[in-house]
Amino acid sequence: MLSGPREYCGVFGVYAPGEDVARVAFYGLYALQHRGQESAGIVTADGHELHSHLGMGLVSQVFDEENLRHLRGHMAIGHNRYSTTGSSRLKNAQPFRVSGPNGEIALGHNGNLVNVETLRNDLEEEGYEFTTTTDSEVMARILAHAPGNSWPERFAHMMRRVQGAYCLVVITPDALFAVRDPLGVRPLCLGRLNGGWVVASESCAFDHIGATFMREVDPGEVIQITARGIRSLHPLESNKSAFCVFEYIYFARPDSVIRDKLLYPVRMAMGARLAQEFPVDADVVMGVPDSAIAAAIGYARESGIPFIEGLVKNRYVGRTFIMPDQRIRDIGVQLKFNPLTELLKGQRVVVVDDSIVRGTTTPRVVEMIRRAGAREVHMRITAPPITHPCFFGVDMAARWELIAAQKTVPQIREHINADSLGYLSLDGLVGAIGLAKETFCLACFTGEYPLPVPLQMDKLALEPPTTARDRHDFEWVESVPTFNS
Ligand code: SF4
Repeated sequence: MLSGPREYCGVFGVYAPGEDVARVAFYGLYALQHRGQESAGIVTADGHELHSHLGMGLVSQVFDEENLRHLRGHMAIGHNRYSTTGSSRLKNAQPFRVSGPNGEIALGHNGNLVNVETLRNDLEEEGYEFTTTTDSEVMARILAHAPGNSWPERFAHMMRRVQGAYCLVVITPDALFAVRDPLGVRPLCLGRLNGGWVVASESCAFDHIGATFMREVDPGEVIQITARGIRSLHPLESNKSAFCVFEYIYFARPDSVIRDKLLYPVRMAMGARLAQEFPVDADVVMGVPDSAIAAAIGYARESGIPFIEGLVKNRYVGRTFIMPDQRIRDIGVQLKFNPLTELLKGQRVVVVDDSIVRGTTTPRVVEMIRRAGAREVHMRITAPPITHPCFFGVDMAARWELIAAQKTVPQIREHINADSLGYLSLDGLVGAIGLAKETFCLACFTGEYPLPVPLQMDKLALEPPTTARDRHDFEWVESVPTFNS
């Protein structure tokens, strides 16, 4: 969909002597472009020092033959950024390079810390100085200064201090690390490439570079890759899992495999469940491109109503402009979609989409389909109503902005001007995925967070006053222990 929850960074790493690792990282990031379009960066290491290039924009805009040629070495990490903490600017681009008593490191982060303000205040009192406004720098500085004689000890120190969602790729002059938080909120997987190793936010990146998927990085695991080989460490016990269910609904690419599930058929199953829960007499079923197409096909198959592509998406509009602030978010749907009037005219249309967040886009989609001549528009959503914000790396909106936190389903139906509206139930959603409910974070639907979270969190909270929006005082709310507790 056009203005749903926003993605929140992709990370990639490769350790492959003999390969052009900068180019491998480039293609890996290219495959993960959907996870962040604000900035991109690659840092390589050659056993002695780090080399980096970062820039604002898409991967294809940031890198060219010339700057890739300068990225020498046998290992690399890369990052696509969508800002969840810190504003959109070059100095906040990743991977970050920082130096400390433990030498120089670079770090790329996907996720969001929930204790970042407290941590940063503590660190500033300890004498740390920060150059950016991101939680990723907080982690990088803790690591670069962490006590311990080995990197595993230093990672254990950092992981004991930080709370929240983090998948990290970290590079030193002679080692590469992949790290996943103990709850395993965000995805991270491990693969092989010509005798070397690769890590990526999603397995689809492996397909594009000819790597073989091996397994997911475990929650709480640190993987260390050096000239001596690979080793797996579990510095912190991980006794509960809270994987973000929205990866299945919307964020991850449909050709990615997460927890042994290929996403495309999972999304078709969500559509099929939706057809069982909210059947309707209609002539055609369509999905809002691209993320809801698989679910719409699932709805069509289950209901026996023919599937059509009622909206054609202009794939070349938006990507270069999509930035996570409201001005750009409000770009009209008409720039992005064109309705196929001949197919829609006079029809009773089921429209499948993956979410309604603020309720600003869906009325425009409905209006566009009506203007194309549809007789009825029945909206079907492959997720329950979003009633709570995300604190784990998804720019979902503040609670007061979430339409389902303010209105009932009948009121939302009226607001979007649909003839009917059906949201997939929580049990239907989890049942379609086919994994145990207690292994997921479902907090944006239930308000039951897997960790204590600040009642309000501002992604610009670490910005200096000149650039920050109004500050919020943080209150803390206890988590509701529903996840494997
Ligand atoms: S709150 Fe929602 S979007 Fe955020 S991690 Fe949990 S399920 Fe995912």
